[in-house]
Amino acid sequence: MELFKSNHLKIYNSLSKTKELFKPVIEGKVGMYVCGPTVYSNVHLGNVRTFISFDMFFRYLKHLGYKVRYVRNITDAGHLENDADAGEDRIAKKARLEEIEPMEVVQRYTVDFHETLAKINNLPPSIEPTATGHIVEQIEIIKDILAKGLAYEINGSVYFDVLKYNDTEHYGILSGRNIEDSIHNTRELDGQSEKKNPQDFALWKKADERHIMRWPSPWSDGFPGWHLECSAMRTKYLGETFDIHGGGMDLKFPHHECEIAQSKINNGVNPVNYWMHANMLILNGQKMAKSTGNYILPNEIFSGDNKILSKPFSPSATRFFMLQANYRSILDFTSTGLEASEKGYIKLMEAVSSLANIEPTKTSSIDIKAWKQKCYDAMNDDFNTPVLIANLFEAVKYVNLLIEKKATISTEDLLEFKTTISAFVFDVLGLRNELQEDSSDKLTGVIDMLIGMRKNARDNKDWALSDKIRDELAALGIQLKDGKEGTTFSVN
Ligand SMILES: [Zn+2]
Repeated sequence: MELFKSNHLKIYNSLSKTKELFKPVIEGKVGMYVCGPTVYSNVHLGNVRTFISFDMFFRYLKHLGYKVRYVRNITDAGHLENDADAGEDRIAKKARLEEIEPMEVVQRYTVDFHETLAKINNLPPSIEPTATGHIVEQIEIIKDILAKGLAYEINGSVYFDVLKYNDTEHYGILSGRNIEDSIHNTRELDGQSEKKNPQDFALWKKADERHIMRWPSPWSDGFPGWHLECSAMRTKYLGETFDIHGGGMDLKFPHHECEIAQSKINNGVNPVNYWMHANMLILNGQKMAKSTGNYILPNEIFSGDNKILSKPFSPSATRFFMLQANYRSILDFTSTGLEASEKGYIKLMEAVSSLANIEPTKTSSIDIKAWKQKCYDAMNDDFNTPVLIANLFEAVKYVNLLIEKKATISTEDLLEFKTTISAFVFDVLGLRNELQEDSSDKLTGVIDMLIGMRKNARDNKDWALSDKIRDELAALGIQLKDGKEGTTFSVN
């Protein structure tokens, strides 16, 4: 039986502001859409936190036996400097400053994004669509909204009529803002004044002559509004109503609010059943900002190349640090916090390695089933990783008691204990055992050295030494195999 049938997962829905029992649209399947990065600079550490949170949701849902389609987009056009449809396109601006093509900017920072997330052991999403790959779908939605009278065209640009929408629907349903407070808080810039109301947002923007990234449309050569791409892509890949949609807290308004409005008109239904938002990351108690120097890139954590840190921290220690906080709480990123997490991470990995040395007995003095249930209860309570991790440290205590023979465990319980620890530590939290990876690298080095010594012995016709090396390695379970390409080995 799939685990989801016996686990009652509750998710905090940002829309209802309550924890709700999770019930997918189609039993056994989950559709999840996460707003991906605008690829005009190195991935921001705050975004890394958001993507680790959604990766952990993805992993746990899969662990429960759901078939998950996880869609996370790449914004490679249409995201202006200012969320109120003003200023330059972020990617085009970077391209202009660096005198390269916009698509070179996109490529460079998409690669950086993927490499950083791979280092931190995030799984790739099921589909990773781009805004520029879905211009046709976006134009179709605009035509539909225009036909329904909820948008208007001015000077080749098309805007969504927020006030008209709000006559029959509720603009602000997600962010809790009143329509009066939904005026984008920005300076009046060129193009802004053509809107009927300051609340309105762009569905299509006419490109001025300097704007490189442009596509033909019935209204002008231009580009889609930023909010529209997500509505287009998630409808295409997940359907008109699907299960989970999320991103960082800062996307609630205006981005997600606008997405709801567009989709509600386009499809006539509420698009999302569970809205999820990951909270902010701050650095040493303050907002991260390049301008103040209170800023760190993910790679600088791994290299230690930033004065904010006392030393480098590995990707798994960093990931563990992030998951020790609840995804809905603000997380303060500090060097001392990371040091404490690193110690905890090492303790956990050492316990995982010690599991192999535990010998079972006839009966158990530890209640493994009750402990396992507590791990599931934590995750079923809106993915509460800090509580899960507290339970894993409880398991570390058990491991130590068992090693010291101050507690006993039956064969059956030991197997369940090992599988549960491995499932939560590696599959759900997505940690790597870097200690073991380190030692296996070292072991490979030592064996390669012995293979080299054996080759020298053979070249010198010292068969006795050559055989001794081979036989003693074999006695340790390491088999050498001589072939045309040289000698290789396998560990039994
Ligand atoms: Zn989005």
